[in-house]
Amino acid sequence: MTERLYYSDSYLTAFDAAVLRVVTHEGRHAAVLDRTAFYPTSGGQPFDTGHLGTARVVDVVDTEDGEILHIFEGELECGIVAAGDRQLQMVQGTIDWNRRFEHMQQHTGQHVLSAAFDRVVGARTESFHLGSASSTIDLNRTVSAADIERAENEANRIVWEDHPVTVRFATAEEAAGLPLRKESARTGTLRLIEIAGFDISACGGTHVAGTGAIGTIAVASSERFRGGTRVEFVCGVRTLKGYRALRDAMAASVRLVSVLPSELADGIARLQAEAKDMKRQIKDLQTRLAGFDGAALADSAQLYGSVRAVVAAVEGSDPAGLKALASTITARNGHVAALFSAPAPAAAIISRAADASVDCAALLKTLIARFGGKGGGRPDLAQGGGLQGATDEIVAFAREQLLRL
Ligand SMILES: [Zn+2]
Repeated sequence: MTERLYYSDSYLTAFDAAVLRVVTHEGRHAAVLDRTAFYPTSGGQPFDTGHLGTARVVDVVDTEDGEILHIFEGELECGIVAAGDRQLQMVQGTIDWNRRFEHMQQHTGQHVLSAAFDRVVGARTESFHLGSASSTIDLNRTVSAADIERAENEANRIVWEDHPVTVRFATAEEAAGLPLRKESARTGTLRLIEIAGFDISACGGTHVAGTGAIGTIAVASSERFRGGTRVEFVCGVRTLKGYRALRDAMAASVRLVSVLPSELADGIARLQAEAKDMKRQIKDLQTRLAGFDGAALADSAQLYGSVRAVVAAVEGSDPAGLKALASTITARNGHVAALFSAPAPAAAIISRAADASVDCAALLKTLIARFGGKGGGRPDLAQGGGLQGATDEIVAFAREQLLRL
């Protein structure tokens, strides 16, 4: 069994310990010490990081038989100390305080928030998870936004009143006579965390010494979860980090939209409506422009045997644009349109007026046979794409073929 120094002092950041063994755990080196201030992942709270001498502690694991494994990287250098007729390999452990304190704020904040939900709206906490950016508690029933606000208000009142948070150990019988928020399933000695005048819970985690050190408890979001509610929250330094992230995002957004923060949603809705309106206007203008361009092209039609045809490449046009132009041309009696996009690979539209006698599909077939690509259609309308070659050559070849028909 490793002696857990954090049980009685969660503010201890440096300690001396004897290295009992170095073992291999899942392919990594792990040190077993006689005592430690390192918190192992358990009870919803993540492990501490830090150093053993100069070796970096990257994970801390609680084993089933009560030992704590310190997974480390680098060389574990020990000092030899004589203890009676034995020699002890001693090492100094130091934990990363910023990470630990952040966890202590979140964990103690969880006790306060869970107790507030219990007292104010009668919702019990089923489980707790401390994540890398935010934490969650799962409540046993659904709660409203107003319920959440009432519990959040109560939790922060307890924070601002700065209630002492103390640890004590009790037998199961002693604990049975105390108003524990949740019955503990553990047997033997229980570690009880008491928030003076507010809450007693059995817990093995690390906590701040007074609720004031939690700083702030803020609910970030909530969602329905397994018949109850999952509440996401942040405490202390994470509230500040979250506030800064929101402030920066908000400042950048209001600069772009040129409104006050309170007007941002309306400002974005207005911009979206304007963009939608503009898209509609552009589409109308494109349709009208195609009409003018099509009429100009139709005026340039030349005689090919019995039909008047426009055979041309249109720079920067797409299949839909070519089709719009072709329909303006073939609205005229006896007219044929053979239009290509440019540059290659070319899209092709070949169509005719109802009274023209050209087989558009056959003409496209000869073009594809010569320039590649694919496509097809009917005698009155054919379309294709992927024709490779110089635009001039494609147009010249199409004119030759029209003369032969
Ligand atoms: Zn706890």
